[in-house]
Amino acid sequence: MMVGNDKELLEVAAQRLEEYDFLKVSSKLQDYNIENSNRVFVVLPEYISTFGAFIELRVEIKSPNLAEGSGNVNENLISVSIDWPPSQPSTLERRPVNVINFSVTKGKTALESASLIVSENELTILAERGELKSIPGEIKITLLSPSLYLLLPGIMPFQRHLLSLNLSIPCGQNKTILFLDHSSKISLRCRKDNSEYQSLAYSVDANQVRKITFFPLKTIKVKYYYGINDQSQFIKLAVPLYSVGLSLLAGSLALAFVQADLRNIAAPAFALLLLPPFLQLFSRSNIFYPSSDINRLTIENMILVLVTVIYLPLASFTIFTLIGHEQYRSLSMKCDLIAGGALILSMIIYMLLIDQGVLQHFTCDSCERRIWLRRKAKLNLTSRKTVCQACWRNEGMASLING
Ligand SMILES: [Zn+2]
Repeated sequence: MMVGNDKELLEVAAQRLEEYDFLKVSSKLQDYNIENSNRVFVVLPEYISTFGAFIELRVEIKSPNLAEGSGNVNENLISVSIDWPPSQPSTLERRPVNVINFSVTKGKTALESASLIVSENELTILAERGELKSIPGEIKITLLSPSLYLLLPGIMPFQRHLLSLNLSIPCGQNKTILFLDHSSKISLRCRKDNSEYQSLAYSVDANQVRKITFFPLKTIKVKYYYGINDQSQFIKLAVPLYSVGLSLLAGSLALAFVQADLRNIAAPAFALLLLPPFLQLFSRSNIFYPSSDINRLTIENMILVLVTVIYLPLASFTIFTLIGHEQYRSLSMKCDLIAGGALILSMIIYMLLIDQGVLQHFTCDSCERRIWLRRKAKLNLTSRKTVCQACWRNEGMASLING
């Protein structure tokens, strides 16, 4: 396929970002000569509910540059570290990754001399040069680690996950491609790396996407923050506000109909007061704890407690004034109206905040400052970094468009 220069690509982008990305990725794959670049594969899990998640890191070195000589001299294959501490935005120091197991093969043969050294700052995998030279084929290194992908402090579903990876491939080629697979139910909140371009998400399976990132180096630095992109996780927090709010408004309406002596119409409104909250408050997922060692009070539980505390006394008071005690009927109607209206209003405000990306914790890919309104962020087309307005102005990026 003929791929145009950057100016032509930008003209395409003005009409369709996906098409621009496809042409750019095709061009980059040609430049990087996929058969010879170092390739790194990472697959992220869909959700993490504990601090660390086990993930596999696979590194393929197609044409290793081994030094002269042979024998039992050790060749440094890869060094891996993470930024520390993980919850700090700026890197203070580096720590070696924890590894549960690892394997090194060349061609289809497992290398017997493969070993692992852990220093203060990084973990290094080595193999004897003589063995490396005696076996043909590419080098494949696989690590299973619980410290590359972490859950940061925060409240579900607004918590962020962090993928932190500093990888050096001394004997590799000068270009590295990272293939990163993850569920479409998570999405990037901030991307810090030393790449020259990261593709849009390409679909690889049902609910699974792949991003291809191009690094013009043999040392890659990756710090990607992810957050939940599952609409149902956000919407389920609004449901109790909505159902209890609506029920209290129905209770207020039932009282108004009774006051106006329209008792036939009051009956269905009264049913609306009772039914929806009971279905919502006692749904199965809200009653049982997932395990004995994780006993976390979620924001969903807090909202349920809040709406229950508002609903139960007001609903009881409404029933109390419906079956008698007419002198309190007007007061009960006002209380239901105010509480129901306030709950519906808070649901609307919450949905607006979600819609504008205020609660999802997006940060600038350049300065890591929080981006409160997602639509105010800008996208740098040439690197696909999303930046805040200050960085947009300061860095004078000519090829930026609204992100
Ligand atoms: Zn910025």
